[in-house]
Amino acid sequence: MPIQTDSWQSMMQAVQEFHDKHDFKNTGGEELNYRVALMAEELGEISSCVTKGKSKHLLSEEVADLLILVMGTGIAAGFDLNQAFWEKMNELMARESRMVNGRIRVSEFRDMEK
Ligand SMILES: [Mg+2]
Repeated sequence: MPIQTDSWQSMMQAVQEFHDKHDFKNTGGEELNYRVALMAEELGEISSCVTKGKSKHLLSEEVADLLILVMGTGIAAGFDLNQAFWEKMNELMARESRMVNGRIRVSEFRDMEK
C-alpha cells in the first residue's frame, strides 16, 4: 500500500517503525518519564527558535520533532491518540473563550469569576 503522507495511519506507522528500528520498547525509549524529558527538551528548542528569531524552516523541524515524540508517546503509553485527539477536539470546540490579560483563552474557566 502506498504511503499517504497526510494520513494519520501512515504517520503513526512510520513512528512505530522508528520505535521498532531502535527497539525503544526494550531499551528505555518508551519509558514515560524519559519521554517527558525529551518532549520538554524539544519544547525548549521550539522556544529557542521563536525567541531567537530563527527561520521558519528550523521552527518546523523542531515542531516536527515534538510531534513525533507526542505520537510515539501514544504508542509508548498504549492509547489511541487519534481517538483521544477527536474526543478532545470536540470538547474544545464546545468550550467558551475569554480574553485574559489581552489574549484569547479557551478553557472551562472553573476557578475564575465570571
Ligand atoms: Mg529538536
